[in-house]
Order: sequence, then C-alpha cells, then structure tokens
Amino acid sequence: MKMVFATGNSGKLREASEILGKGFELVTPAQMGINEEIPETGTTLRANSQQKADYIWQHCHTDCFADDTGLEVDVLGGAPGVHTARYAGEDKDFGKNMDKLLDELARKEMEASLMRSIGITPKKNLRRARFKSVVTLILGGERHFFTGVLEGRIARCRSGNGGFGYDPVFVADEYPETTLAGISEEQKNSISHRGKALRAMAAFLKDGAEA
Ligand code: IMP
Repeated sequence: MKMVFATGNSGKLREASEILGKGFELVTPAQMGINEEIPETGTTLRANSQQKADYIWQHCHTDCFADDTGLEVDVLGGAPGVHTARYAGEDKDFGKNMDKLLDELARKEMEASLMRSIGITPKKNLRRARFKSVVTLILGGERHFFTGVLEGRIARCRSGNGGFGYDPVFVADEYPETTLAGISEEQKNSISHRGKALRAMAAFLKDGAEA
C-alpha cells in the first residue's frame, strides 16, 4: 500500500518503515514536491497531527498519515508536551532541548532536597515521563486517529548512540538499564509510542477496527 507519511524527520521515517513492514511503501512530502515545512500551529498533539495530514491531503489528494509526538514530564506539569520540538527555541535543536530538560529536572531535584532539609516531603518520582504519539490517517478523504503511549523516566544525563530526538535521555520502563538510544531499533519499535499507534493503524487498514 502506497501512502505519504507527512514527515521530514528521517528518524521517524526509518522507524515507521520498519514498524509497518513490507506491505507499505512510504513516500515523503519532498517526493511529492512539497519542500516547505508543514505548519504545526495547534495546541494539542491531535490538532497538530491532523493539521499535518490535512496539509498533505489538500496538496496531493493521496492517502496519507502524520504523527505528532510529545514528551510529558509530570513534575513539569506535562511540559514540554505540544512544545517538545521547540522546547529550547525555534531552531528545534535536539541537543539544546535535552540540555534544557536535564537542567529543569536538576533544578527540581535541588528544590526537593531543600524541601526535605526543612522537613517538607516533596513529590515522588520527579523524573516520571511519557512519550505520546497521535497518528492521523486520511484514507479516501476520511480521517482516523490512533494513539500510542510509552511510560518511562528522564535519565540524569545523555547516553547511547542510537535513536533520535530525546532518545538519549529517556529510559523506558521495559528497559530500565539504558536509554532508548541504548537499545536496538527493533526493541524500541516493539514498545514505543509510535510503534503502538502505527500498529493500531496497520490493524485498522487490515481489519477496519479503529483503536
Ligand atoms: P514532532 O512529532 O515531529 O513534532 O516531534 C516533536 C519532538 O519530539 C521532536 O523534537 C522530535 O525529535 C521528538 N520525538 C518524536 N518522536 C521521538 C522519539 O521516538 N524519540 C525521541 N524523541 C522523539
């Protein structure tokens, strides 16, 4: 099945091709002549995911899908959330984004230890976090939505050479000894937010069951 995947992110494209397997031929917006950045101006993951898929449908009238992913950190009130890509600025720099997140959490830990020193019990699980992906599929002009969540925590420093984005600072509950950048792509895809959402999409395309 041929579909446009509304992404310019090579890490996402590689993962989606692996997750969906041989039955899918994924085409990029650039291969369809769309070279501009697709707007993402929504205030929720679902709105951004839909906006990206709608953009492709409006320009190409081809079956397509888009994913929008956010990292939610409990102690930061769910931030960076919908601002995950631009957490440290408009240049979407992975390194700066991770550094800002590690700095914020180090500050929270310092506050917690000050609270403890004056007899106040701070919140537990200061590093608890999750990735959430919302996939919008447009099939024959109709939208369908699929979601996936990966629970874990934020590490104290970066480690691992694989993956992309925030992978070097995210430790999944299923692999507590290392970050997502330290496990194989196959292991990541088998548990990840994107893996769950895209497998639900693939099942829908096969059986018509929407998750
Ligand atoms: P978006 O869905 O392209 O808007 O991605 C939001 C941000 O999350 C970007 O900074 C991505 O690099 C990052 N991101 C998306 N998926 C993953 C992932 O699977 N691992 C780590 N970072 C991710």
